[in-house]
Amino acid sequence: MRVLIIGSGAREHALAVGLAADPAVTDLIAAPGNPGIATVAALRDVDALDPAAVAALAVEVAADLVVVGPEAPLVAGVADAVRAAGIDCFGPSGAAAELEGSKAFAKDIMAAANVPTAAARVCETPEEVDAALAEFGAPYVVKNDGLAAGKGVVVTDDLEVARAHAAECGRVVIEEYLDGPEVSLFVVTDGATALPLLPAQDFKRVGDGDAGPNTGGMGAYTPLPWAPGGLVDEVMATVVEPTLAAMRARETPFAGLLYVGLALTHKGVRVVEFNARFGDPETEAVLALLETPLGGLLRAAANGTLAEHPPLAWRDGAAVTVVVAAAGYPGQVRTGDVISGADQPGVLHAGTARGADGTLVSAGGRVLACTAVGADLASARDAAYSLVDKIELAGSHARRDIAAAAIAGAVSAATR
Ligand code: AMP
Repeated sequence: MRVLIIGSGAREHALAVGLAADPAVTDLIAAPGNPGIATVAALRDVDALDPAAVAALAVEVAADLVVVGPEAPLVAGVADAVRAAGIDCFGPSGAAAELEGSKAFAKDIMAAANVPTAAARVCETPEEVDAALAEFGAPYVVKNDGLAAGKGVVVTDDLEVARAHAAECGRVVIEEYLDGPEVSLFVVTDGATALPLLPAQDFKRVGDGDAGPNTGGMGAYTPLPWAPGGLVDEVMATVVEPTLAAMRARETPFAGLLYVGLALTHKGVRVVEFNARFGDPETEAVLALLETPLGGLLRAAANGTLAEHPPLAWRDGAAVTVVVAAAGYPGQVRTGDVISGADQPGVLHAGTARGADGTLVSAGGRVLACTAVGADLASARDAAYSLVDKIELAGSHARRDIAAAAIAGAVSAATR
């Protein structure tokens, strides 16, 4: 099987490592990729947001399967174009990717499917915004109704900050605040059959103790020792199956990776968001424990044969990912700093590039995702931080508390 991966982050590096380890995958190509991905795949250049260009590249490299990492190409219709060229594609159609592309569409589907989620109002005028903020009260949750790379959401106690964010965005979704810890559940689906991966938790705020602004994600771990028994079955029955049925009923079946972001609130499990692709950095941790060959799994989802796929097999133990971010992230990021230590196994590349002389330099906000497995969460965490501690990158920062509360037994679901 020849596989083309679209994307250039640590998530795609993790996918590339997983695919390269599948004996059925004979050739791996990535576009545009990054210097880390280049160690396991041949790199090609492509404008990932141009569906025709991606489809043409897939034909040119004679791909049997295209795996699309990020959301923006999916929303742009890359999977539709690849399938129209007669090639299997792991990733939803542009229409189905609206589950992530539009918060308002996602809320519609959740209402149609009776999926438990935060009460919400779609607002376009300052009057509607003020009314919704008053209705739900503090803490205020204001979401940009469009793709914002995980950064379009403001959660604040400050009414003026909430109003200002709404004014900046235009069309927003304002919703009820959900208390309780968050869980990311990834589901591989062909539109009908759905296989859940291990639940994970990510860390969205930049600083230890969840201080500071939201980021694309600063770390993750899996599995969740504190998760209530039966959580995954409950979410499959009350969220995933009804959502997939609602998508089929609209004739926009969702095939690919359904990312269910959950909050375990005192009122029960609630959906915070859907995404239409693997989450970053949870994917790095989750795939580190997957024993099932990744290429065969993604291809079965892409060609509608997941019902015949064997159950997923997982390694015992735990996995932890810690992101090393560039100076300034998530604000104005400094790039071009020399990196050393990035060639250790388990160090996945995100914002890296080769300088003119071949030196590895920083080229983005999240630079590396240090991922390690261990017999338990504590040893996986120690191993991940020992990777982090050998990275040299001027001005870089990493959270020091990834998975710490779970190991200390200090996380618990508000529910049950
Ligand atoms: P989203 O883009 O919808 O995933 O939101 C990003 C992050 O904002 C989530 O992972 C939560 O940490 C936070 N968030 C979103 N919606 C809510 C909510 N209703 N209540 C509390 N926090 C939320």
